[in-house]
Amino acid sequence: MLGQMMTQPLLISSLITHAERYHKGGKIVSTNTSGGVENTTWGQVGHNARRLASALTGLGLPPQTRCATIAWNNRRHLEIYFGASGGGFVCHTINPRLFPEQLVYILNHAEDKVLFIDKTFVPLVAAIRDKLEHLVHIILMEPDVGDAADSLPGIIAYDDLLATGQADYEWPHLDENCASSLCYTSGTTGNPKGVLFSHRSTVLHSFGSNLADSIGFSAMDVVLMVVPMFHVNAWGSPYACAMVGARLVLPGPGLDGQSLVGLIDDHKVTVALGVPTIWLGLLGAAKAANSTLTSLNRTVVGGSACPPSMIATFRDTYDVELIHAWGMTEMSPLGTVNQPLAKHRDLPIEDMHKLRENQGRAVFGVELEIWDQNGKPLPHDGKAQGDLVTRGHWILDAYFRSTPEETLTNGWFDTGDVATMDADGYVTIKDRSKDIIKSGGEWISSVELENIAIAHPQLTDAAVIGAKHVKWAERPVLVAVKIDGADPSEAEVLEIFDGKIAKWQTPDKVVFIDALPRNATGKVLKRTLREQFGDVLL
Ligand code: AMP
Repeated sequence: MLGQMMTQPLLISSLITHAERYHKGGKIVSTNTSGGVENTTWGQVGHNARRLASALTGLGLPPQTRCATIAWNNRRHLEIYFGASGGGFVCHTINPRLFPEQLVYILNHAEDKVLFIDKTFVPLVAAIRDKLEHLVHIILMEPDVGDAADSLPGIIAYDDLLATGQADYEWPHLDENCASSLCYTSGTTGNPKGVLFSHRSTVLHSFGSNLADSIGFSAMDVVLMVVPMFHVNAWGSPYACAMVGARLVLPGPGLDGQSLVGLIDDHKVTVALGVPTIWLGLLGAAKAANSTLTSLNRTVVGGSACPPSMIATFRDTYDVELIHAWGMTEMSPLGTVNQPLAKHRDLPIEDMHKLRENQGRAVFGVELEIWDQNGKPLPHDGKAQGDLVTRGHWILDAYFRSTPEETLTNGWFDTGDVATMDADGYVTIKDRSKDIIKSGGEWISSVELENIAIAHPQLTDAAVIGAKHVKWAERPVLVAVKIDGADPSEAEVLEIFDGKIAKWQTPDKVVFIDALPRNATGKVLKRTLREQFGDVLL
């Protein structure tokens, strides 16, 4: 016997329809690429998204055509998110910080026919235009094309394209399993791989994000979307915020600490999302500007391990709850969120602080396990560490143009992270499996050492790599960046580890450099560091 409930497809268009209907006046502040701030609303974004879908259909594009974006976080980008996907096309966000060869590879692999770009990226696209095999239309996300047509002949202005769309366009009834958006992961080796999200996975991920024990956006929130819209769909926040009608602040190209502090204070931001490096800049700027970040009540931090010292600064100096989350492109990205349980209510304050440091526990919709090298489940005792694997409603089944057989192991996706899990399911990410330091028979977590080093008052950035060692195979080496004007010795830096870890885990050496190399999403390029400093102990 079947249940007798309606079956309605889970579509991205239903999210924007809801926001347009029930949060019509919900304010969205958008920083323009050429400076200045523009105000719009969920009502207007919904209206423009429908006109855009209509205009794209008018271009004669077949269903599921990939429409790429190389753009900052702004309101036109938001309209493309809903307009392209809602209209039955695939919104393919591309990271502008990739190398030109990678951009060419991605645009050709995805067979993008349409490319929306912000003004900033005209030179970038002009330099590779000839190599883009499938591209037909380039749209400049501005009211008019200005001089962009000089380097990109045939470029169309976004507002002109929009004007060709019908305001009474009705969203098509799509299959909820059809593709809605596409992101390539910026791996540190090999070609980037595409993750093709569906309408269904995206809507379910939005429900997951909005659970109270997850990120829990609400109509009362003003959300500063610092995480780029080209990094796993800004962690799915545009969809989750539309679902509840949260107000948005879109920072455009200005991701420096000072601009962000200004946006938080000017627009009374209540919650912000971003990677730890961005928050380092913000904390510095807040201090310099004497801002108390009064309106902010929580920040969601993920993308790389959040150092406990940052959690403490937000908490103790700004009264802001830092919610540590973990996930990845292949997981849409939400995997775990650090939220306490009822049994933690009466924990001594120090223990509660300690509890909040790890990456948290699985959100409904995500299953997690840790496996040994043979794929055997390891105990959830907070000690055994192994490969973190996952399956669930918004986890990929196969990379774009690949198969589940090539992507999964016995139905599970191996995240490439090494972790422990405790009896309550709290996960601690120890490392990427390829970055963990194998010293003799023991493993040393580079993340753990970095978390300690970054709290050193004379360092502004730190990474730990495994360097080759004659006796131990690998030993940790700390690569550190000094704060301006400071000049600590190696011994002074290493003192910070005293009493915090076992003596044998302390790095063998400190190398000082001016800045850490990072990939396009802000992750430290450990491979580059290993190439540079992997032999310093030989
Ligand atoms: P990406 O797909 O580019 O977002 O990268 C995902 C990877 O980032 C994960 O597999 C982790 O290695 C890392 N990562 C994300 N969030 C965290 C976190 N909170 N702590 C430690 N590593 C993280």
